[in-house]
Amino acid sequence: MKIVVATHNEGKLPEIRTIIAAELGDDARHVELVSAGSLNLPDPVETGVTFEENALLKARDVANRTGLPALADDSGLIVDVLGAAPGILSARWSGVHGDDEANIDLLLAQIADIPDAKRGARFCCDAALVVPEHCVARRGDGSAPQAREVARLGEMHGTIIRERRGANGFGYDPIFVPDEQKGGLTSAEMSAEEKNAISHRHKAFVALAPAVRSVISE
Ligand code: IMP
Repeated sequence: MKIVVATHNEGKLPEIRTIIAAELGDDARHVELVSAGSLNLPDPVETGVTFEENALLKARDVANRTGLPALADDSGLIVDVLGAAPGILSARWSGVHGDDEANIDLLLAQIADIPDAKRGARFCCDAALVVPEHCVARRGDGSAPQAREVARLGEMHGTIIRERRGANGFGYDPIFVPDEQKGGLTSAEMSAEEKNAISHRHKAFVALAPAVRSVISE
């Protein structure tokens, strides 16, 4: 079964493929993941106010356009002392969408006076699956099938340091030290494999995998 991943970031597709393959084992051979970018689908405007709303909105848009089940994710950084921020505004915290350097500069300046022990933060990711009505099996009571929507959250907790370290990854990786990284490396100093093993995205898609499995067995 073809499942469309609502992303134009070609780097995300292999990462999600790897997770789904590991979680589904033999069943993974029934799934073909393709990206929305490769189908020339437009990016919807992200009008949600939570990661979950935005992930569902992206998956719903692709499912409606293609008639195929769709996967999407939405993620960002939440810094303890900033409430829910940068949160869904992570990519454009400094005002310019995707300007990682300016986003980091602004965040570091905002929390410059916060002591080390209070610089906790977490990366969050909501992964969503939307299955169009016609792909859902008729229920046992004979009632009409309904489109199915599932969203799962993954988190990676850590600390914001004061200066950038590392050249890997993207976004806020150079100033984030994950708690699960016992050597004190930032996520930009870890290899992609090391980061993927503990990342918010990984955890969200692992949690979503049973829902993906149920689509192929329908
Ligand atoms: P997206 O939803 O994956 O596009 O992520 C939105 C924004 O959140 C990115 O532009 C980054 O600023 C931030 N972000 C999300 N995940 C990560 C991560 O794994 N490392 C660093 N920054 C991230």
